[in-house]
Amino acid sequence: MQIKHRAKKSLGQNFLQDANIARKIVDSLKISEKDSVIEIGPGQGALTKFILEAGPESLTLVEKDRDLAPALEVEYPEAVVELQDALKFDWAGLDSAKSWKIVGNLPYNVASKIMWDIAAQSSATCVFMVQHEVAQRITAGPGSKKYGAISVWVQSFCKTDYLFKVPPTVFKPMPKVDSAVIKFFPLSEEEKPSDIEGLAKLIKYCFQFRRKQLGKILKSFISDSVHKWAEDEGLSLKDRPEALSPLQFQSLYKCVKNDFPS
Ligand code: SAM
Repeated sequence: MQIKHRAKKSLGQNFLQDANIARKIVDSLKISEKDSVIEIGPGQGALTKFILEAGPESLTLVEKDRDLAPALEVEYPEAVVELQDALKFDWAGLDSAKSWKIVGNLPYNVASKIMWDIAAQSSATCVFMVQHEVAQRITAGPGSKKYGAISVWVQSFCKTDYLFKVPPTVFKPMPKVDSAVIKFFPLSEEEKPSDIEGLAKLIKYCFQFRRKQLGKILKSFISDSVHKWAEDEGLSLKDRPEALSPLQFQSLYKCVKNDFPS
């Protein structure tokens, strides 16, 4: 797909040039004819043709760029092209009777926010290419230096897997950093937390002070139930936020929610 457009220059997006890597990314989503696929930021269609080759029930392309979207409509008439910002997409409104799969070589400046929303709002299986550093953070477990608010949040809704690293040389223009491909497997509805706005606030609040001990971070909310929570979970209030698993954040939230500012 040959498109001369301003996106390359003005948005600083990096377009994948390597068909083998594009195929590997799409293969890792394991698309079947029952799946409704959404591709975020298809750009010049590096992944798109492989998605269509896999034969999904439907393909929706969410592309924000005003030059790229019409060109995609011409090149891929089988797909539905939405000229839209993925940050404003109604992920929660996807028909729950369908099997959704979401894929994209995400725009790096908004990748974390897009994944934050999709993990919590959809029940889709996803494969994303993001900056290597972001991939490490999303898939990091408790105790790791890379483990932070986004790790806890995404892993509250999905099992995450780090799939493979991608070098800068396969993009045009060439980025300064490595990339990596990650996969999300959604948890069942029963396993997902409820009251997620309050939980998000608690997670962000705790990681704002990631070097501090829980007892100090939570000093305004400490009650007998918080002491009991720590004891039951085998934690100490001297531990730091990075020691808590996603489930422990959820049980902590239940303890403090009445006192925590909403
Ligand atoms: N998938 C293509 C590839 O691998 O070559 C392009 C990837 S490029 C890193 C990111 C793409 O996302 C660009 O086409 C850009 O126009 C689009 N994009 C950027 N911000 C977006 C947003 N908020 N919503 C939807 N698309 C966006």
